[in-house]
Amino acid sequence: MKVIWNNQLVEREDVKIDMEDRGYQFADGLYEVIRVYNGVLFTAKQHIERLFTGAKKIDLILPFTREKLIKLLSELIEGNQIETGNIYLQVTRGVSSPRNHAYPETECTSTVFTASTTSVPRNLKMMNDGIKVITLPDMRWLHCDIKSISLLGNIMAKHEAHKKGKDEAILYRDNRVTECSTSNISIIKDNIIYTHPDGNLILPGITKSVLFKVARQAGITVKEETFTLKELKEADEVFASSTTMEAMPVIEIDGELVGGGNCGPVVKLLQSLYVTEIETECGIIS
Ligand code: PMP
Repeated sequence: MKVIWNNQLVEREDVKIDMEDRGYQFADGLYEVIRVYNGVLFTAKQHIERLFTGAKKIDLILPFTREKLIKLLSELIEGNQIETGNIYLQVTRGVSSPRNHAYPETECTSTVFTASTTSVPRNLKMMNDGIKVITLPDMRWLHCDIKSISLLGNIMAKHEAHKKGKDEAILYRDNRVTECSTSNISIIKDNIIYTHPDGNLILPGITKSVLFKVARQAGITVKEETFTLKELKEADEVFASSTTMEAMPVIEIDGELVGGGNCGPVVKLLQSLYVTEIETECGIIS
């Protein structure tokens, strides 16, 4: 399998990363997951923009321009002949030796950039049947807007859900729902979509921004307002969203059914509008 290592395409076995890399020792780095349909990147511009925004917030000098990154990722797709799948990319601040929490004030030139691909079909069964979730207190840090590779809080929440035989964990702070361990969360009540506003408590998801754009175009009101756990459980429909899940119906929360345990009409509509967006950018998929 080919991967990107810094500025070139290489065989995965040829990648050598220093054990004192700050990504390995401090999780000092950022990542993105970008979906590929028909061998074409979907919403790549938005993902790259989020990466650049995150880099600015943590003083990370990215080792490429936006254009160069697109070019490298396209070469990677070509190299691995990916049709439908995911690109995982990450950039770390590179080596600091001896180990030291503080990073150099001056430009750090040893950033390490890697990217790889996996072939993953759209999970149509799950998108139709929906997922079961639990709720948990959000114990993560207060910069959830930064797509940091430091994901222990998210990992622990996801693991807790899996231990209970569920798919995802919905997180809350002070009784207000923030997002899930690996996705954003929205509810629908009386045909209005509610979701936590962007800010430092959630990741500004690209998928939700696409879904809200098409929802508004279809005349559905979207309110970026917080909602409580009680409102979550009394919603008509609930859906999680992410690059890999798209619009994913939530059909059970903490053992109680949502919307009678089926994907509701608004989420179904959002799913089909999302496909239209994919097809506009990447060609026919259905
Ligand atoms: N929140 C969290 C915590 C996530 O990990 C993700 C997926 N990366 C999302 C939201 C959704 O973001 P996106 O739609 O850009 O994939």
